Order: sequence, then structure tokens, then C-alpha cells
Amino acid sequence: MSSTPAAPNDASEITRALNRAVLDALPFADRQDFDDAQRGFIGTLPDVEIRNDAGRVVWSLKDYAFLREPAPPPTVNPSLWRQAQLNLFNGLFQVTDRIYQIRGFDVSNMTLIEGDRGLIVIDPLISVEVARAGLALYTKHRGPCPVVAVIYSHSHVDHYGGVRGVVDEADVTAGRVEIIAPDRFMQEVVTENVLAGTVMVRRAQFQFGGTLPKGPRGQVDAGLGKVVSRGTVTLIPPTTVITQPLETRRIDGVEIVFQLTPETEAPAEMHMFHPELRALNLAENGTHNLHNVYPIRGAQVRDANAWAKYLHEAMDRFGRHADVVFAQHHWPVWGNERVLDYMAKQRDLYKYLHDQTVRLMNHGYKPAEISARLALPESLASTWHVRGYYGTLSHNAKSVYQRYIGWYDGNPANLDPLPPVERGRKYVEYMGGAAAAIARARADFARGEYRFVAEAMSHVVFADPANEDARRLGADALEQMGYAAESATWRNAYLLGAAELRASQPVSAARAPVSADVVRAMSLGLFFDYLAVRLNAERAAGKRLVVNWTLSDTGERAMLNLENCALTYLADRHATTADATVTLRRAVLNRVVLREQSFADAMAAGGVTVQGDAANVADLFTLFDDFTLMFEVVEPRRIEHRVARGKPAPGP
Ligand SMILES: [Zn+2]
Repeated sequence: MSSTPAAPNDASEITRALNRAVLDALPFADRQDFDDAQRGFIGTLPDVEIRNDAGRVVWSLKDYAFLREPAPPPTVNPSLWRQAQLNLFNGLFQVTDRIYQIRGFDVSNMTLIEGDRGLIVIDPLISVEVARAGLALYTKHRGPCPVVAVIYSHSHVDHYGGVRGVVDEADVTAGRVEIIAPDRFMQEVVTENVLAGTVMVRRAQFQFGGTLPKGPRGQVDAGLGKVVSRGTVTLIPPTTVITQPLETRRIDGVEIVFQLTPETEAPAEMHMFHPELRALNLAENGTHNLHNVYPIRGAQVRDANAWAKYLHEAMDRFGRHADVVFAQHHWPVWGNERVLDYMAKQRDLYKYLHDQTVRLMNHGYKPAEISARLALPESLASTWHVRGYYGTLSHNAKSVYQRYIGWYDGNPANLDPLPPVERGRKYVEYMGGAAAAIARARADFARGEYRFVAEAMSHVVFADPANEDARRLGADALEQMGYAAESATWRNAYLLGAAELRASQPVSAARAPVSADVVRAMSLGLFFDYLAVRLNAERAAGKRLVVNWTLSDTGERAMLNLENCALTYLADRHATTADATVTLRRAVLNRVVLREQSFADAMAAGGVTVQGDAANVADLFTLFDDFTLMFEVVEPRRIEHRVARGKPAPGP
């Protein structure tokens, strides 16, 4: 189709027709969201181009200039184009008396509340550089004002990572700045992205499309915002934890009613109501899209039923007292009548998703069948803020199913299927060989049967990754699906899948999955769990070892047991008959976790003392794998696995 195999194609006639139909189906004349997204605008930075100290760009809206074109190109779903335009408004905005927001400086918003003496910052974005730039923009327009409190609305990184850009930890330690978070915030921060961190970071590339070129044939948005910033991620632990279901506090003269909403969009999350300001902050439970009960980067499935319940309670308790509702993504909604309408529809969106999935599940429908049947009720379908720009009904319904009864659809033919390579080979054989399969797929492609073409060509690629015709046709099919997708995350996944099929070698690097501040906050137990998931079972075969551990500065103790290719530990215990006792300071442990120093080098440098069988302890650290970020996704793995020998494996 195109002259260079790696370049994106144009939209096919079938994709163009699909996208034209969207223009007729949805109320594009309703421009209220455009008014709301610009209301209260005060000022911004040119292109919002923000660099780190080394001069590297960590955030920029420059490459999104193509979105100013009012008419959507045929390669973008018009509904997504509209959302992508709305997410481009950026700068400092006034929400209401005392409340301001920085938008378009990251995927999330930073909310600023003017207290009696200083400023309360809610959610300081993902990285230090963008948070600092946001605060500077506020200061430029509203004058200098000390930050007296930071509130983390929930445990996701886009709501705390930039904290060191708005406060100095010394001021927190000295009690000059309070940091407030919902119950279980720290536990969730340090556990959610550690054990599965590498695979989530790689899969997040498909969700956010951060490595795709931006443009009408590339990344246009992430649904919740443009993309994620790529600066320095930090964390300062909270000094105040909200533990009651409803807790009222006066912070720097501003009354805030906190409503805990556990197990909703995040396991630790809370709404905030400001009675005197008649303003309600729904954190990330009420945003201008159908959110994810399961993000396609991979995560534990969230509880859609609890999500609806807490929105209902917020509406009942605060709704009639609110003149504006806003969140930590997207733009506010003003006027009490509209606030109540917005909240009711958001509530019913998640309740409908949950209940109808469970109903169909109990009728015996399989996940793929439920996804195919579920559509928004007619009373909601024309409401922009419930549409699937981030989550989709399709993958959310499968996830509700998974939350209750797991990955298995109950059909024993699917209980133990062949793995992808063997399965691909058998499919190709049954289809009469690769050439016959590709010939049929070309005919299907011409008819617009992109979903099946993508699936069939994936079997051919897994059978033979060197089959260029299958790779190209599979990529072409994924690309057309991306062009027609209303969901930004699906578009990004399809387009990155197409790019990797065409390029045949994943390229690009991403930051380490764990930030230094998060490692410092990890419990000793989590550290051992983190080691245990790196244990290479083949190399550990036949080995037995018991090691006592002492952290000389914190006084913590633990015993570690290697047996049957499994690494287990008991906290606060030492074995009486250990093979060795290891003594080290917590800071040394942190350096080892962060791969700044290997365990062997720490021993050699005297940072670790081993009494007893030091050779066996050193040997233990040769049994752990290192994870390489850029593993293959759309084709078979080239390398089965790598084994580290004390030093981190070099990246690609
Ligand atoms: Zn967020």
C-alpha cells in the first residue's frame, strides 16, 4: 500500500465510511465542553515546552499543533478527535473563588487552593519539572505564595510524582508543610507497580502511545489527557492520613470534607468537598470519559460496583450543595443542575457496566460475547462524558467478568490451549499454509474484516516471524482499526502494534519502573518479594540456603529460606541454624534494589557484612534474573530469558 514498509498508510474507504458515520451519530453541535474547558483561563506557556536540568524535553504540546484543524482527518475517529482537541487546552484556570487548576502540563491536573496564609496543592502531577513549571505559572499570575499543604487524591503516580517540584522535604520534616493522603496510600503506592513493574511499563507504551510519532496517523491523545510527562518521579510520604469514611478538616482556613472511596479508580482514593466554596472534587472517579476498571497496561481489576456506590453517596451528600464539580483530569462542570446530571450519569455508567456484565455472565455468556452485546443505553449514548476515550465497554466488561470468575471462560477446549507459537503453526497448517492464509486475509482486508485479519495474521507471524507479507498485512489491519477507534488507548495499542510488526525490532527506552523515593518507602517484606519474583527456578534447582538478615540502622530482622526453587521469608525472625547472617544498612539495600550497586560489589566495598557461608550468599545473588524492558509483544520472543550474574544485564 505505501512505498516504505514502515510508513503509516492512509485510511481505507471502509475506515473513512466508519468515521463519517460517527459524525452523523453524535451531537457535535453541542459545544458546551469547549466552553467549559476554556472557562476561567488566565494564562499559559508557549507550547508548554518544559525541560529538565539537562535540557531534555520532558513535556511539550508543540507536536500537537495539528489538532487545531477543526475538521477531523479520515485517519482519526471524529469523537476521539474532539476529545483530543479538548485535552489540548492548557494553562492556569480559575475554577471558582480560591480554586485554580493547572491543565495540560501533564496527563493529570494540579489543583491549587488559596488558603489564609498560603497554597494547598492537590496532586502535583507525575514529575518534578512539570509540577515546578505549573506552580511558577500560578505565581506569575497570582503572586508568590508559600505551599502550606499537599493533598494526594489517590495512589497513582500522576497524582504524586512531582511533589518535590512544589515542596522541599525539609519543610515537611519541620512541620511547615502538611501532606495529606487517603487511608492505605503508601501501601498501595509501593505495592501496585513494583512486582509487576517491568511488564506494566512496557505495556503502558501501548496504552499511552508515548513512543509513537504524534500526528493524524499517529498518537493524538491518551483519552484522560495528552500523554504522560517524562521527568523526575518523586514521593514524600504523607504526614496526615485520612482514615474515617468522612472526615472534615480545616486546612489553612479552608474547610474540606474528605470522603474515602476505597477500591474505586484506585485502591486508595478520596473525594473532597469544599462547603464554603460550594465546590466538589471527584479525584478520578468522575472524569469526562468512561474510565478503566482495567487499564490495558495491565492491573488488578477495579470494583465498578463500589465506584458507582461512592459516586452515588457523593451526589447524595454533596451534590445539591455544589455549584461546580471537577476532577484531577479534564475540565469542570458548572451549575447545580448540570452538576447533578453529570454525577448521575457517571454513577449509572459504572453501575450499568457492572450489573449488565454480571447479568449476562449468569446467563452463561462468555466474556467475548458479553463485550459484543454490551452497548451504552440510548439515554446515555449521546452524552460526551460517558464515552469510551480511555476505557471501553468492551474491555471493561471482560474485566468485570475476570474480577468475579477469572480468565477461564468455562469451555474446557480453552482450559489448556497450545501456547502461541505451537498454536500459530497448527492454525497455519489447517489453513493450508501461510500463502493460502495470506491470500484469504487480503480478500477479507478488502472487505474491511480487519479484526479477523489481524488475528489470522498474528497466527502466521507466531508460526514464522520472518514472514514479511503476514507482518505487513497484520500491521495494515491493526492500523485501520486504530484509525477507527474512539478509544485513545485502543488507537495507541493498534498503532504501536502495527509499528512493531513493520519495524520488526522494538526500539526506544523508558525510565526504570521504580523511583528512588518508592524504593526508600518499600518494606523489607516487599524487598524480599521483589527478589523472589526474580529467582530463576532452573538455576536454583537443588539449592538450599537459610540466611538471617539484620538491618543495622533500623534494627529490623528477617530470615530468608531458599528451598524447592522458592524463596520465602519470615519477618522479625532469625533461624537458629542459618547458613549465614547478613548485616547491612537500609541505604545499601536501597542501592542494590535500584541497581546502583550489585550485592557482590556492596560486599566487596564493605557495605555488607556476612558471617558464616559468604560464598553461598554471593551465589544466591547469581540466581536472580534481570528484566529487559523491550520484550517482544506482537511476535515470538527471540530470547527465552536472561540470567544476571551480579550485574544488571545491558539494555537493548
Ligand atoms: Zn490520574
